[in-house]
Amino acid sequence: MKTIGLLGGMSWESTVTYYQIINEEIKKRLGGLHSAKIALYSVEFDEIERCQSSGDWDKSGQILGRAAQGLESAGADFLLICTNTMHKVAPQIASILHIPIVHIAAATADELEKHHICKVGLLGTKYTMTETFYKQVLIDRGIDVVIPPAEDIEVVNDVIFHELCLGEIKDDSRRAFQKIIDSLAQQGAQGVILGCTEIGLLIRPADSSLPVFDTTLIHAKRAAELALED
Ligand code: GLU
Repeated sequence: MKTIGLLGGMSWESTVTYYQIINEEIKKRLGGLHSAKIALYSVEFDEIERCQSSGDWDKSGQILGRAAQGLESAGADFLLICTNTMHKVAPQIASILHIPIVHIAAATADELEKHHICKVGLLGTKYTMTETFYKQVLIDRGIDVVIPPAEDIEVVNDVIFHELCLGEIKDDSRRAFQKIIDSLAQQGAQGVILGCTEIGLLIRPADSSLPVFDTTLIHAKRAAELALED
């Protein structure tokens, strides 16, 4: 079995889900007392978020790059960056590693293809929804991406940073997200990407009028699969 490197803590609320899903998946596949080999580096998220909001992506890339090197030295065979947003600096991190990064958007694109989705709604942080670093991976695979209007982008981003990353799950916010998902469906989306690793804590498949593609689950399951591959 290969060792999975998790670069987590962004936020730690969703890293818990990664740890759980990966182990459940290994147990499901191998049974008995089997569990995943995981090296985890959990960062101080406040430090990372300050870099995001001040636009100092290079500094965040350096912090995450050092953490990733630590995971490589700890024996990780491949790396998961446990956040969609920080894939903005994935190329910077990859440039100093010898192990591969399993890209969260690429894993999600594989899943969308499996379900024959060619137009998808995207919910995530304002960086993920409005910038190209994430959407381009999907577009390059022939998948059209629709995002909410500006005022809804603010709502989604605020709920992520002021509630979900703090472990607060509110019914009002769930209702707001449901309306936003409905409007993505009206724009022709055939499914919705929960493109922030905490959104799955708020929106379950049954809460959504569209089929849900939860990036945390997709990414974590892919890791378990790769860990068992020859
Ligand atoms: N976990 C979130 C994501 O998947 C947001 C936190 C962050 O900014 O890294 O994008």
